[in-house]
Amino acid sequence: MASGGGEQKVVLITGCSSGIGLRIAVLLARDEHKRYHVIATMRNLKKKDQLVEAAGDAYGKTLTLLALDVCSDDSVRQCIDSVKDRHIDVLVNNAGVGLLGPVESISMDEMKKVFETNFFGTVRMIKEVMPDMKKRRDGHIIVMSSVMGLQGVVFNDVYTASKFAIEGFCESMAVQLLKFNVKLSMIEPGPVHTEFETKMMEEVAKMEYPGADADTVRYFKDVYIPSSIDIFEALGQRPDDIAKCTKKVIESSRPRFRNLTNNLYTPIVAMKYADETGGLSVHTFYNLLFNFGSLMHITMSILKCLTCNCLRRRTISPD
Ligand code: NAP
Repeated sequence: MASGGGEQKVVLITGCSSGIGLRIAVLLARDEHKRYHVIATMRNLKKKDQLVEAAGDAYGKTLTLLALDVCSDDSVRQCIDSVKDRHIDVLVNNAGVGLLGPVESISMDEMKKVFETNFFGTVRMIKEVMPDMKKRRDGHIIVMSSVMGLQGVVFNDVYTASKFAIEGFCESMAVQLLKFNVKLSMIEPGPVHTEFETKMMEEVAKMEYPGADADTVRYFKDVYIPSSIDIFEALGQRPDDIAKCTKKVIESSRPRFRNLTNNLYTPIVAMKYADETGGLSVHTFYNLLFNFGSLMHITMSILKCLTCNCLRRRTISPD
């Protein structure tokens, strides 16, 4: 049985085989005051080596490993049942998958897989853990959303929809949970350099885009992909940054509901709420992609200038 022990907070994290989940697990497990017992979970324990190595001597002490596939009712139930008294103080829903490309060339099954992980996987975890938190009138649920949970992004249609769905679910749940003293926080990173990006680019290279017309494929490959690489280069954060932001949210006495991690995205979100008709966002993104695409570097610099201090204060900083 995984056990919290002492005054340590028990933190269960999904999707710890790589990227952000791995870094959150290691940061918390190696906390200098040993305030956390981390239950790091992954769907395939054969992928544990990177985590075990990064955890060092925390492995087996403040960090325990368990198998958990967020897409399986049985796996989720078994995992939570194996935690001592099913007691979880902080649940970090990090597991997620991406999907990129023209909608015409993506099968319905592929789209459902994204929702099964990013939306239903998170809901499945919350349903399993929340009742005990409500009973105890204590607990904190964290959801790794994305800036794409707040703003649609071209050719990321289905991934964005899955993150919007979880944002809507959590925004509704947060009100009820407040009554039970259970906190709910969303983390909304922009681009982060992890295997997520690599996996998606590999998929893109392999895809042949059946069903999509030549113009759409050209816009995707020759306009969107180079811009996206530019954006990752200019604005990308490290998984360690997101781990530090998440730790701050966990340790805050009054955590915010929404936590953007990248202040360069605050103008984009502000623009969305500045025009409730949606026209401003749609036309700005259209112009950025199709009219000023070649000026993407300059656009990035302008975006950096736009992020004045007052906007920066609205994000959570890793430092
Ligand atoms: P990553 O390195 O690909 O990590 C994703 C993790 O989710 C992996 O450990 C993966 O396990 C796991 N996972 C996928 N399906 C699962 C399932 N059914 N059950 C359990 N675990 C599963 O990517 P990342 O960047 O760290 O992503 C973590 C989260 O951050 C995701 O929710 C993502 O949407 C979000 N995010 C990422 C970015 C970015 O630019 N990277 C930006 C904003 C938000 P396997 O190794 O078994 O596949």
